[in-house]
Amino acid sequence: MQAIAVHGGAGRIPEELRPEHGEGIRIALQAGRQVLTQEGSAVEAVMAAVVVLEDLPAFNAGYGAALNSEGYVELDAGLMEGRALEIGAVAAIRDVQNPIRVCRVILQAPQIFFSGADASRVAREAGIESVDPDSLISPRRLKQRQSGASIPALDSGLAADTVGAVALDEKGDVASATSTGGMNDKPPGRVGDSPLPGCGYYADNKWGACSTTGWGESLARILAARRAIEGLERGLSPSQAARMTVDLLKERVSEGEGGLILLDCQGCFGAYFNSPTMSYGWWSERDGEGVNT
Ligand code: ASP
Repeated sequence: MQAIAVHGGAGRIPEELRPEHGEGIRIALQAGRQVLTQEGSAVEAVMAAVVVLEDLPAFNAGYGAALNSEGYVELDAGLMEGRALEIGAVAAIRDVQNPIRVCRVILQAPQIFFSGADASRVAREAGIESVDPDSLISPRRLKQRQSGASIPALDSGLAADTVGAVALDEKGDVASATSTGGMNDKPPGRVGDSPLPGCGYYADNKWGACSTTGWGESLARILAARRAIEGLERGLSPSQAARMTVDLLKERVSEGEGGLILLDCQGCFGAYFNSPTMSYGWWSERDGEGVNT
């Protein structure tokens, strides 16, 4: 059984960006699906999907990510595989366009998490190209910053456009990945839920895989991704477990806006969000396919 799902963030997608979001989700899904159908692993599939979204300026990850209060990009990402519960994560990395590739390197290391300049060093040692941090700033972000206008998608302070993917491969392995520039205008060094295992993502071959998005501080407080997996353990369907987690967010923490995508080990897909929008899409041999923006 093969399945993959991707998201392009919970928030308020402005009307004019919806087509771009939809297109990005479709291309990312296609990239991940192709890996799976060519007998690639779930890890490779989520990587392929997330790299596509990191490269597209409509999303808040890699190129085109949100700018912090000093006007530069600091990227966070996390990757997990469900067979041996291996994890690779980076935080506050500034000079790599595809932080998820660095996560892939760390996934195979004895450590699980590197931050800042040392995450960049790990990337360089692995031969991942280092880029000029300014090259990650898209014209849209620059314009927004220069005009001093608030980013429409963030008008309540909520982040948006973070990306993520979950997949199940033919061998029964699951994986999840999340990548973000974090909250718009965040203070330098601020790290949210996205690179934190159990918060921004989680994968366990016994149950399934999850990637979350939304207000990072709130998602982290309830260990959102792990909670969603716990829902599967308790016998909920992916849709029910997704909803239970997002409802808990609202119940337990203020500013609890967000959403998540969830895949179980049978290839069933579920998603839920309480923000005005969340773009996502799925393809599953079991559940068919669809895109929502
Ligand atoms: N969760 C991310 C963060 O707080 C933002 C988002 O998902 O849009 O950094």
